[in-house]
Amino acid sequence: MNKAFFLDRDGTINVDYNFVHTPEEWAWCEGALNALQWMNEHDFKIIIVTNQSGIARERYTEEDVDRLHSWVDQELQKQDLAIDDWYYAPHHPKHDLNEEYAPADRKPGTGMFEKAAKKHDIDFEQSYMAGDKLTDLKPAVKLGMTPFFIRSRHEADQDKGWLAKHNIGSFDNIGQVIAQLDPSYQTSIK
Ligand SMILES: [Mg+2]
Repeated sequence: MNKAFFLDRDGTINVDYNFVHTPEEWAWCEGALNALQWMNEHDFKIIIVTNQSGIARERYTEEDVDRLHSWVDQELQKQDLAIDDWYYAPHHPKHDLNEEYAPADRKPGTGMFEKAAKKHDIDFEQSYMAGDKLTDLKPAVKLGMTPFFIRSRHEADQDKGWLAKHNIGSFDNIGQVIAQLDPSYQTSIK
């Protein structure tokens, strides 16, 4: 079975400007590219799991999101880096017009994680999840993964008591997470 690094998208690998859906709005978080490189080199499947209620809200379409993710894949390829798979949840409980959007996919639901695990033969016990909201980390706890909390503009709204109760560490960026996992990790931040 494979080990994986599950990653939230907005606020974890790219700067969360709210409803990011074009390449022009994409800016890597500090340390993200180096961290992806470390994951690639250490045989982690990299799986992005992102709530995209902007689709249910009709601010943008699934095609926009697919196009953005393809563009990111191409940018990574230029640097010999690769994300293994992308999952997004279009659903929003108040805005859905499309009954095909699976509510269980929207984090804190575990739907996206379970689909990825099945497709990529992932062992949750050996896997990690990083995100900037509790809704990212609750499914990780439920599935037996090790979660990491990333500080972002949403930090003030997150329940620190819950993080403490589950003994979850907080980090300024994903690069700091890797530095904790691997003391030999060199950070020449890209
Ligand atoms: Mg986020």
